[in-house]
Amino acid sequence: MTDAPVQPYRRILLKVSGEVLMGDQGFGIDPKTLNEVAEDIAEVAKTGIELCLTIGGGNIFRGLSLAQGGMERAQADYMGMLGIVMNALALQAALEKIGVYTRVQSAIPMDAVCEPYIRRRALRHMQKGRVVIFAAGIGQPFFTSDTAAALRAAEMNCDALFKGTSVDGVYTADPKKDASATRYDKLGYQEVLARDLRVMDASAISLMRDNKIPIVVFSIRERGNFAKVLKGEGVHTTIA
Ligand code: UDP
Repeated sequence: MTDAPVQPYRRILLKVSGEVLMGDQGFGIDPKTLNEVAEDIAEVAKTGIELCLTIGGGNIFRGLSLAQGGMERAQADYMGMLGIVMNALALQAALEKIGVYTRVQSAIPMDAVCEPYIRRRALRHMQKGRVVIFAAGIGQPFFTSDTAAALRAAEMNCDALFKGTSVDGVYTADPKKDASATRYDKLGYQEVLARDLRVMDASAISLMRDNKIPIVVFSIRERGNFAKVLKGEGVHTTIA
């Protein structure tokens, strides 16, 4: 690790959508995609920036879809959070294999598996150059991993929240369904909320607005893009 800053950020949070990890296979974790995402994260971690991660679980279980099938919502959401822990452990393994020191902290304590979430300890890990992976969302049902990302970004005093997803920014409509959709370069928090652009849920957006933390949305499926976007290059949308 070096201390040389190559970008205007001192500490950032990257949220990786669960669906990114499934690659093209439609469910679970695709090992090739997992390793590629880890390599892109390692490239950034090695610049010396303080980095923490949150991960989603949409590639394993979404509480809402199970609830629509008749399961009690809270129970389904706890299953979703356990899926997130699996993703976090997979990402930890992939990062450590290529020489990035990490710690997983879970919002649902599970001592045999990882550390519990302790804010001051997470900060200390980052100061020591370790990448902290926050798992199990916020540990409460009826929330999403986007809200968890926003909450941790605020708690960790991050300079920005990067949302690495499978789309390269925020569009006027879903680009997978509407060919005429166009991408925004910049957006205001209020505009995202007023137009219901669904880039992150409303509670995550308003938490970032209240704490003046910019959100950068980009595609983490494109190799090398995370490092580029961090330098203000590459295709992305900034919400500030
Ligand atoms: N979840 C939850 N509380 C949280 C975070 C997540 O209950 O704080 C559950 C919820 O069921 C959610 C699932 O975990 O559907 C997976 O997270 P999410 O759908 O946000 O993942 P992503 O869309 O980022 O892959």
